[in-house]
Amino acid sequence: MLITCPECTKQISDSVSNCPNCGYQLTAERVATIKKVEKGFAIVCLAVLVVFLIIFLIDIFSSKSPNNNSSVSATSSEKSVWEQNQDFARELDRMEKARQLDRIEEERRAIDKYRQ
Ligand SMILES: [Zn+2]
Repeated sequence: MLITCPECTKQISDSVSNCPNCGYQLTAERVATIKKVEKGFAIVCLAVLVVFLIIFLIDIFSSKSPNNNSSVSATSSEKSVWEQNQDFARELDRMEKARQLDRIEEERRAIDKYRQ
C-alpha cells in the first residue's frame, strides 16, 4: 500500500524503512499514524462530495419549478432566437451537471477502492 511521505509528500511504499526520495525514517508507528491521517482525509473528501451532491440535487429541484410556469404557447418552429438560446443553455447546463455527477461517482469509487 502506498502512503504519503510526511517529509517530501511523495507517494512511497509502507513496507520500506526509509523514504527512497528524502531518506525520512519510517517506523511502524509513523506508518500507522500516516495511514490514520490519510484515512481521515478520504472520509473528509467523501463528506465534501456528499455535500456537493446534495447542493446539486437541491439546485435541480429548485430550478425545475419556475420553468414550468413560463408560457409555452409558441410551437417549436415559432420559437424566437432567444428561446432557442435558452434551450441551448439549459441543455449545456444539463450536460455539465451530468458530467460532474459522473466525476463525483468516479471519485467515490476511487475512494472506496482506496479504503479497502
Ligand atoms: Zn520522503
